[in-house]
Amino acid sequence: MPSLSDPAAAPAAGTTPEAAVESRTGRCQCGDIVYRVEGIPDDPHLCSCRHETRISGGPAVLWVGFRKDGLAWIGPGGEPTWYSTWPTLRRGFCPRCGTHLVSVAEDSSMVMVTGFSLDDLSDTDPVGHSYREEAPLWMTIALAPDPAALRGADEGTTRR
Ligand SMILES: [Zn+2]
Ligand SMILES: [Zn+2]
Repeated sequence: MPSLSDPAAAPAAGTTPEAAVESRTGRCQCGDIVYRVEGIPDDPHLCSCRHETRISGGPAVLWVGFRKDGLAWIGPGGEPTWYSTWPTLRRGFCPRCGTHLVSVAEDSSMVMVTGFSLDDLSDTDPVGHSYREEAPLWMTIALAPDPAALRGADEGTTRR
């Protein structure tokens, strides 16, 4: 199949064509399962659906999309263990430490990785929140102002 990234068309030795593609890595807590993904993070979003709150034990999961064909398992444990939460949706987790790492839908060209398993979290701030209506109300106050910052602001106004 013809490809726009045909290696024959790549620059000569001395330059590194791979450097043109951004890649980053992620891993489970114990380090057995390590992945590499390529490209720019796509559609980082939180999800508070019942499947993912139960799987994570938390109020939401941060998902970050990358091209499925750029996914590689590079840790000593190889591929994660898979569990399907839907006939066309499977989730990969480390069988040793239990960390959830990816969600793969058959009908998508993207793979979603759990944002906080990434080693580099840049450009992964969520742009949306799926099943937001099912999220606990206290999530809206989880990032209340830092008390120390508030004290500083009070001092600034009262002592002027
Ligand atoms: Zn692990
Ligand atoms: Zn979800």
